[in-house]
Amino acid sequence: SEDSLFEAVDTYINSLFVEDDPVLERAITRATAAGLPEIQVSPGQGKLIYLLAKMIGARRVLEVGTLGGYSTVWLGRALPKDGKLITVELEPAHVKVARETLQDAGLADHCEVIEGKALDVLSGLQPAFDMVFLDANKDGYPAYLKQAVRLTRPGGLIVADNVVREGAVLKPSSVDANAIGAAAFNQALASHPQLEAIVLQQVGIKGHDGLAVARVKD
Ligand code: SAM
Repeated sequence: SEDSLFEAVDTYINSLFVEDDPVLERAITRATAAGLPEIQVSPGQGKLIYLLAKMIGARRVLEVGTLGGYSTVWLGRALPKDGKLITVELEPAHVKVARETLQDAGLADHCEVIEGKALDVLSGLQPAFDMVFLDANKDGYPAYLKQAVRLTRPGGLIVADNVVREGAVLKPSSVDANAIGAAAFNQALASHPQLEAIVLQQVGIKGHDGLAVARVKD
């Protein structure tokens, strides 16, 4: 089927462009052992957000939705020595795993995990970040976007995962709060006067979804 071809090509891409990585493998093992859901970004997506951060020379990065810190390790590795990452996570059990993983990755000095509700934490942060990565509850995305625009410097990036949802954003069911949130987010992103943006439709080991990439205008 198409799905298995997409998965096979994704696996091929990951095997070409993402090296075996004991720290990232332990991050997954640790998260699984602690009972966390396996909803982290794929290796290829991790590489992409790492590259995006490096391409803009990001020194200050904000992540919303840490889970066990898998994507945090990718972003943290893109930082220069004096760089700083803040990542926000609601669930104490996820925070605990993420802190262990960042310690294991040698990133604990650069990466701070803040436990709390994303909107509460974001409201209390000061600009300026070079990059914001949104990957928490999708029904919160429209509100997180407002904060992300406030917090991101001109020329900085706002990246958001899971904004296609197998096409559910085309006509979100009234009972699918995440699809409604993602569709509202895409609409706001497309029409925002301070942003230039696109959504990359993605298929592969994580099914059919999409990643939004936006640049704050100068
Ligand atoms: N970025 C992670 C990665 O790729 O390794 C995956 C994040 S996972 C898709 C979403 C996370 O957002 C979950 O750990 C969940 O507990 C957290 N979350 C959900 N609602 C939240 C909220 N209101 N504030 C902060 N975190 C929240």
